[in-house]
Amino acid sequence: MKLSEPLENYLKEIYELEENKGRAKVVDLIAAFNVSPGTISKALQRLEHMGMIERGGGSLKLSEDGRKVAERLVRSHRLSERLLTDIIGVDWVRSHDLAHRLEHIWPEDVLDRIDQILGRPPTCPHGHPIAGRAKMSGVTLTEAKEGNYKVKAIIREEEWILRELDKMGLRPGATVNVSRRGEEIYLTQGSNSVRIRPELARQVLVDEIATQALKDDERSL
Ligand SMILES: [Zn+2]
Ligand SMILES: [Zn+2]
Repeated sequence: MKLSEPLENYLKEIYELEENKGRAKVVDLIAAFNVSPGTISKALQRLEHMGMIERGGGSLKLSEDGRKVAERLVRSHRLSERLLTDIIGVDWVRSHDLAHRLEHIWPEDVLDRIDQILGRPPTCPHGHPIAGRAKMSGVTLTEAKEGNYKVKAIIREEEWILRELDKMGLRPGATVNVSRRGEEIYLTQGSNSVRIRPELARQVLVDEIATQALKDDERSL
């Protein structure tokens, strides 16, 4: 049974919502695709009929078959992004949009070859795990207490979000110091300190760094 591209995209989004939020809700799906509730409702009915998802109380769950399709697509998307950034030299902002098209075309054996050429990368350029090789863990910058952090992933890979974060140097692997003045969050990298807007802070997943260097700093104060 061949799924249409839009239906494949819904399955992939449900998978990513589960990955990011623990579970997928219909309202989140409507927001992500910017389509009418009627259109989503029809698509979900088809997916349920095909045995790809289970529905109930506004929540969605992938069936075993649905998960298989979504996993293949997500792997294909993330490897396509890596291929674009690491081999072809496309910037990480554009790579996401281009990967949306490429993810549907690779046969499995070609994808395996791409994976091999790339050296089996653990994540996409935005920090999302490939084939379970990494975990989405950490806190968002909104939740982070004051301290030093390493950027793990950018949660939603929308162009405006990636562009803004790119300007601030907030890519996976970057380190920042988080400080707060009231409700406002400030980020310091080297001698440069900037305020980050809440709608962007919410999209950045970070891990606290507890380094010996930091402890040494405290001691010398
Ligand atoms: Zn992407
Ligand atoms: Zn990505």
